[in-house]
Amino acid sequence: MQIKLWGVRGSIPTPLSSGEYRERLKAALTHARERWQKDPALSAEGVIDELSPEVTNLVGGETTCVEVRSGDDQLIIDLGTGARRLGYDMLARGIKGDIHVLVTHTHWDHIQGWPFFVPGYIPDNTVHFHSCISNCHERFQRQQHFDHFPVEFDAMMSKKEFHNFPQGGSFEVGPFKISTLELAHPGGSVAYRIEAQGKVFIFATDTEFSGDNVDEQIERYSDFFTGADLLVMDAQYTMDEAEQKIGWGHTAMVISVDCALKWKVKRLVLTHHEPAYQDEKIHGLFAEASKHLEANANGHRPEIYIACENDVFDL
Ligand SMILES: [Zn+2]
Ligand SMILES: [Zn+2]
Repeated sequence: MQIKLWGVRGSIPTPLSSGEYRERLKAALTHARERWQKDPALSAEGVIDELSPEVTNLVGGETTCVEVRSGDDQLIIDLGTGARRLGYDMLARGIKGDIHVLVTHTHWDHIQGWPFFVPGYIPDNTVHFHSCISNCHERFQRQQHFDHFPVEFDAMMSKKEFHNFPQGGSFEVGPFKISTLELAHPGGSVAYRIEAQGKVFIFATDTEFSGDNVDEQIERYSDFFTGADLLVMDAQYTMDEAEQKIGWGHTAMVISVDCALKWKVKRLVLTHHEPAYQDEKIHGLFAEASKHLEANANGHRPEIYIACENDVFDL
C-alpha cells in the first residue's frame, strides 16, 4: 500500500505568508554567503542541500485529501483543496473509470476541492462517494448552489453514486477491506481502517481526544486502532490551545503521541495543522512531541512524522 498526502492543513487553506517567505530567503542567503566565501565552487543545489528542512520544505497549505494505492487500485479520502492537484495528477497518470472517495465528514475543509477536481467533469468517470451520512449527496449539492459556484454538482459530467454504510460498518472496495469508527467531532466524523496486502492504514482526522478522562477515551478506542502499520491522525493544537478549545473537535499533538503509544501503532503521522500556526511553530510542536515520545516510550516506540504536503508513505 502507498499513501500520499495531498493536503494536510486543517480548517482553511493556508498559503505561506510573504513574511515567512522573506524569512526563509534571508536564512538561505545568509547561509549561502558564508558557504561561498569558504567554497566559491559550491553549486546552488549544494547550498540548498545543506539548509535545514524547516527552510527548504513547506508543511503545506492545502486542506485534507489523501490518496491510497495498492497496485493499480486507488482510494481517495476526503476532497479538501488538495484534491485539485490530485485531480491533475490523476489525469497525467491516465487514471479513469471508477473513482472511489471515502468521506470522513462534510466540513468545508474536507469537500472544498471537489468543484476543482477535474476527474469529476469527465463523462466516462463514475465517482463513488462512500459515507455514513444519509444526505451526503444533498450536502455536496448545497456546496455548489449557483449562488456560491457557477457549476452545480449534478451538472458536473462524471456519473456520481452515493454509497451509504451504517456508522461503524465495514465494506470492501476492490482489494481494500475497510472498517469504520465514529469519532468525537462536532457534527461527527469517521475514521477509516484500511487493510490491503497484509498491512493496516488508519486515517483519523477531525477527532478530539481531550479532557480529564482522556486515558479512558484512548482505551475505549483501542480495538479499532491497535497495531496499525501507519496512523495519520489529527494533531492540530498545542496542549494549551486544546485546553481552551474543548469541544472544537481536535487533538493536541502530544495527546496524539499518547494515542500511538497506547495503541502500539508502528508509524504515526501528525496532521490537520492549525491554520494560525506558521511552519516554524508546527516544527516546534513536533520537537516537543518528539521529546514527549522519548520520555514516555516504554518498550514500544512508534516512528513519528509531521505531515507535509506531498509526503508519501510505503507500507
Ligand atoms: Zn477538518
Ligand atoms: Zn471537521
